[in-house]
Amino acid sequence: MTISNGREFLVIPGPTTIPDEVLRAMHRPAVDIFDPELVEITDTCRADLKTIFGTCGETYIYAANGHGAWEAALANVLSSGDEILVLNSGRFAEAWGKMADLMDLRVLSLPQDWRHAVDPEAVEARLRADTKGRIKAVLVVQVDTASGVVNDIAAIVAAVRAAGHDALVMVDTIASLATMPVEMDDWGVDIAVSGSQKGLMLPPGLSFVAAGERAWAAHPAAGLRTRYWDWTARHGELHPEKYCGTPPEHLLYGLRCSLDMLLQEGLENVIQRHRLLSEAVRLAVATWCEAGALEFNIIAPEQRANSVTTVLMDEAYDPLGFRDFCRQCCGVVVGGGIGDLRGKALRIAHMGHINAPHILGALGVVELGLIARNVPHGTGGTQKAIEFLGQNVPA
Ligand SMILES: *Cc1c(COP(=O)(O)O)cnc(C)c1O
Repeated sequence: MTISNGREFLVIPGPTTIPDEVLRAMHRPAVDIFDPELVEITDTCRADLKTIFGTCGETYIYAANGHGAWEAALANVLSSGDEILVLNSGRFAEAWGKMADLMDLRVLSLPQDWRHAVDPEAVEARLRADTKGRIKAVLVVQVDTASGVVNDIAAIVAAVRAAGHDALVMVDTIASLATMPVEMDDWGVDIAVSGSQKGLMLPPGLSFVAAGERAWAAHPAAGLRTRYWDWTARHGELHPEKYCGTPPEHLLYGLRCSLDMLLQEGLENVIQRHRLLSEAVRLAVATWCEAGALEFNIIAPEQRANSVTTVLMDEAYDPLGFRDFCRQCCGVVVGGGIGDLRGKALRIAHMGHINAPHILGALGVVELGLIARNVPHGTGGTQKAIEFLGQNVPA
């Protein structure tokens, strides 16, 4: 006997819950690849993505997951043998660097532990040491979904420039776009990449790249350009050229709907919703941590992301079994640890199409699980979350 019947709730950091409106927008027959309505959707989505990324630059939509956007960013502005610097604050930054290595780039890493954000001073010092200006690009992940860290992108770009360095700055916003502020132009970011299945509330399968002027200036000479990712080719006049082939029609109808939802709510409100609900999660977790079996992975509170919270769980309490209990017995899918944290952590995501009952329900289930599985914890975590929202949601 379980209490899991009914709708299953996802609190994994992608894919996230898809709104019914988006599902409905996609439930339709295929159309001609030159269909005027579809062509208009491409144009308006590319324009609205500029708003979402905070840029006047160009935006590209790829039929690919986030890894595709990583490859697109590298391929469009770099050449074989170029040096790049990865700010290695977590598993995703490291993986992007490994991809670059396979693309024949010379990958340098600014190593650090995965419990802290990137230190902008260390970035400045590392770039000052590159006196010959060999480093062509700096890669950084805004929210690393494994560790739960948020990096201060504005400060990192400022550090690159304070070093008098003109490397391109590429930012992975896959887990931060439409959950935390992303201000590409204000911050001086040259390329930002993102994906569909996190804050944008879509199925996996689309990814996005936004490119500023400096990125475009580097593009013509880039030796790694390939037919599929190439920005220039995607400026072709015919609609399929924007996708290097058949447009991902249904995902585009979904994208139009999700962008409408985000813009109608207002980006400020979207970000504030994530701020409030993530703070509620952190208050609950902080309470549970009091008994010593659980711990925040990210040590400094201000470095914890508003999109996902990574909680270390003493291995004696079997985090994988804990996840199974939440899903199989209670209908909530909690994220597990990945990479070095596999079998050692839980990840509670709070990104995308989330509201109070979703998050409070998930917290209630996690707390229920702590009781059911005899994991020592401070009591009343979910109550703390309720009180916080009660005091901070305008009545
Ligand atoms: C999910 C995620 C990715 C990978 O995206 P895929 O769509 O799985 O390729 C990359 N970076 C970050 C920060 C992510 O959260």
